Amino acid sequence: MPAVPRRKRKQFFVRRKVCRFCVDAKLLIDYKDVTTLRQFITERGKIIPRRISGNCARHQRSLTRAIKQARLLALMPYVPSPPPA
Ligand SMILES: [Zn+2]
Repeated sequence: MPAVPRRKRKQFFVRRKVCRFCVDAKLLIDYKDVTTLRQFITERGKIIPRRISGNCARHQRSLTRAIKQARLLALMPYVPSPPPA
């Protein structure tokens, strides 16, 4: 079998994501702080995974709990009220 040359991967610069909560000590994870939590959910109300958001395991965990608490208290949606088409 002839050797097929492999395509070069990822020539562009990949930016290292840092946990925003580790960087900014003032930024706290609180279930009442909907504006902060909202940055970590998609428009469909899903929690953005760690590999996308770049959060560390510790903060992602507390963030997830906070989002779930906020949902339970109806501060945040499980599903957006007008579902995007
Ligand atoms: Zn962190």
